[in-house]
Amino acid sequence: MPVKKVLVTGATGRTGSFVLQKLRQRADEFQGIGFARSPEKVKEMFGSTEDFYLGDIKDQASLESALEGCDALVILTSAVPQMKAPPQPGQRPEFDFAPGEFPENVDWLGQKNQIDAAQKAQVKQVVLVGSMGGTDLNHMLNRIGNGNILIWKRKAEQYLIDSGINYTIIRAGGLLDEPGGKRELIVGKDDTLLKNPPGGIPTSIPREDVAEVVVQALTEPNAIDKAFDIISKPEDDPSEVVTADFSGLFAQTTSGL
Ligand code: NAP
Repeated sequence: MPVKKVLVTGATGRTGSFVLQKLRQRADEFQGIGFARSPEKVKEMFGSTEDFYLGDIKDQASLESALEGCDALVILTSAVPQMKAPPQPGQRPEFDFAPGEFPENVDWLGQKNQIDAAQKAQVKQVVLVGSMGGTDLNHMLNRIGNGNILIWKRKAEQYLIDSGINYTIIRAGGLLDEPGGKRELIVGKDDTLLKNPPGGIPTSIPREDVAEVVVQALTEPNAIDKAFDIISKPEDDPSEVVTADFSGLFAQTTSGL
């Protein structure tokens, strides 16, 4: 099989960096290229800026040149809330977004730019990582900095579906910085896992497991034109059967938002 050239945006992010590492570990299958805005952060995390494009997703031209000759695009960018000031004792911290870095700019227009650039470059598949909770307009994440982050993310997901490019939309539960490959993964849709988690388990998943699902989606036909929610069983769950059959996992998922 020819090596697939894959561009990963948000490659200096906590999940995006795992995806790029995993692609580079499977060099017989993939050529992993990173897209990031901070050369300092790239050097700190990856040692050098080799096989990286430096740019901002708000600038479509930089995305277009990065995507030239790519077979697939992995979207792992996200608006990042910032704490306004250290909270007073007994008070909750307040969050805001930097000017021009609101969810509307990053999660809607920035993702739209990526999808438009992918279409222009005739990329064959886009894998987009989003978030569970988007069916609830009043979700607390939407209130952070009045950013409506889940609403903008979902709008971009629909735009990807409507683009006609082969898509895989992975809406993760709460992300954990815990090792991957040790849990059973559970897929769902329309936030049913959030509303009614099986056995009352936490609705979370390690970032490393999300990254593995992304990489598997790049080769599994059952992942094409699918959108789904995903969580994991806790690592010590007695009923755990660690997920190894990703084709079978994707077979449980469906098309459409
Ligand atoms: P993250 O660490 O916050 O990474 C976000 C990335 O986006 C960073 O690399 C950031 O660049 C990049 N980015 C932001 N604006 C950009 C711009 N204008 N141009 C270029 N790059 C830009 O991500 P994460 O926590 O791993 O989350 C991955 C995804 O899962 C996100 O979509 C998130 O919303 C979603 N999710 C999160 C949770 C959770 O519990 N946190 C739950 C479910 C789903 P810099 O590195 O330069 O800042």
